[in-house]
Amino acid sequence: MNESQLLSVIDGALRRAGSVADLTDDCAYVESGAQLITTDTLIEGVHFDSQLDTAEQIGAQAAVQNLSDLAASGGRPLFLVWSLCLPPSWADEAERLSALAFGFARVATEHGACVVGGNLSRIDGPLVIAVTAAGACFGPSPLTRSGARPGQAVYVSGRLGDAAAGVFDPSAATRLARHGWRPHIAEAQALALWGGVGACMDISDGLLLDATRLARTSGVTLALSRSAIPIGEAAAALGKPALDLAMTGGEDYVLLFTAEGSPPIPAYRIGEVREADVRGPLLLDLVPTLGRGFDHFGTASNAS
Ligand SMILES: [Mg+2]
Repeated sequence: MNESQLLSVIDGALRRAGSVADLTDDCAYVESGAQLITTDTLIEGVHFDSQLDTAEQIGAQAAVQNLSDLAASGGRPLFLVWSLCLPPSWADEAERLSALAFGFARVATEHGACVVGGNLSRIDGPLVIAVTAAGACFGPSPLTRSGARPGQAVYVSGRLGDAAAGVFDPSAATRLARHGWRPHIAEAQALALWGGVGACMDISDGLLLDATRLARTSGVTLALSRSAIPIGEAAAALGKPALDLAMTGGEDYVLLFTAEGSPPIPAYRIGEVREADVRGPLLLDLVPTLGRGFDHFGTASNAS
């Protein structure tokens, strides 16, 4: 397809998903009050598998990954733009491209956001989806990673490990469970308006690694309990690897937060915040632990 044909395929899919924006001009004009901006890229073979995942699932994943970062900051999604680098297997298949755009815009509209623009390039390589998402704070200020204080409890807003289970054992059932992810926007709204949150982030690279990052940013130590970590159903069905998938797998897109008092959302209490411990930022059953997880640039999967 040529560029205008590609654009009309994408425009049609966005409209079907309820995301109505004028894509004709060089810039999108938005009077939005946006305060939060984030960007994240998905690459074929790194974040998704075109053989195992449908086009609509891949588009949805691109939106979830970015909206989850807005949720982590206590943000209400407003708009997204994306840049697509399309290999011939996508640029020449209207139906596939349409499903990708539909999945992307469906997740956006489900959370009140609109796809307002994008860019198209041809690539002699993997499909690349670069997304920028903008939002506004639900509360008076954003949630941050730096507010954890000793005495607070540590929570996660959902079960862990299912996304990684779908990579570890890509049978049809676990691969489908992998795509059960969603951005925890509603939870973020309740937490931001509640006011009892210390620190907050989303779990994208694995609980242990992300918990280590939060602890370091706050200058505290998080003491987590293995038996309290909530394991997803698909991960649990795999038996022995389940706990490791839940602790280090990543892409769960649930919120990891610290709080005083009882949070206003269903959440699992997995540990407590302590004064910075000389033994390190993360204790697992009181034993210092490496923040293992997914690091794009790590040779070993250790926290940096
Ligand atoms: Mg994040």
